[in-house]
Amino acid sequence: MQYSLSQIITNIANVSIATILPSRCPSCGDIVHHNQNDHVMKHSGFCISCWNELKFLTPPWCISCTRPFEFIEEGANSEQLKCGYCIHKPPLHDGIRAALIYDDINSKVILKLKYSGRISIANLIADHLQRFLYDDLDKLGGDIWMVPVPLHWTRLWKRTYNQSALIADALIISLKRDNVAEVPLHIVDLLKRIKRTPPLRGNNGKDRQRLLKNAFVLNPKYMNQIKGRTIILVDDVYTSGATTDACVKTLKSAGAAKVIIYCWTRVIK
Ligand SMILES: [Zn+2]
Ligand SMILES: [Zn+2]
Repeated sequence: MQYSLSQIITNIANVSIATILPSRCPSCGDIVHHNQNDHVMKHSGFCISCWNELKFLTPPWCISCTRPFEFIEEGANSEQLKCGYCIHKPPLHDGIRAALIYDDINSKVILKLKYSGRISIANLIADHLQRFLYDDLDKLGGDIWMVPVPLHWTRLWKRTYNQSALIADALIISLKRDNVAEVPLHIVDLLKRIKRTPPLRGNNGKDRQRLLKNAFVLNPKYMNQIKGRTIILVDDVYTSGATTDACVKTLKSAGAAKVIIYCWTRVIK
């Protein structure tokens, strides 16, 4: 991953500040005081009141998109259940892994990562996504590529970093820290965003699809290496799926066999 000089300076400043100042909740910003013995709370990063409100995505859920089920019939095989959305229109992707159900509390975390320069939040997000990653690596085996949803160069230039690439980096680092044998390769430039789209918030699913049409292309230097490959596509928030669908289409047209989406939080309608 390439860093600009300003990003390196920002990173160093963030690390220095983090060692001097007390930690703050990544959602509400309150100073976090945790009991040293409370291992879970200490590593969650959140204050107690935000932590208590987090809506974790847990089974029973759709095996395709992890949409949670309120209940499942007795005797149903939870390893095979799909939601009505996925049955009605089979998704392009091969699974969504999201830590949380989108709400005001966890969306603030992404806003801080994207717009307040709090890049260490990527580590916290990676910690919460690890439970899926270990499971997937077990099932899928090695030789996986991890790919962030790219920003258009004008947005990257303005923000100086791609928040999804930071999350992907943090996931890889956490695997290396745990001495995992086969760590996916982070291919930060596999996809390129060639169309600058306006903020998608406020647009419905159809409008988003139209705006994102032909927005992504595959970097030609990887054209001969993608056939049959499994890819973990990293995004920050899964809303309508229009952005990731556009990426998945591009990857699968180029020959990718499987594309699994990783994100911090997903909208459940
Ligand atoms: Zn809080
Ligand atoms: Zn589903």
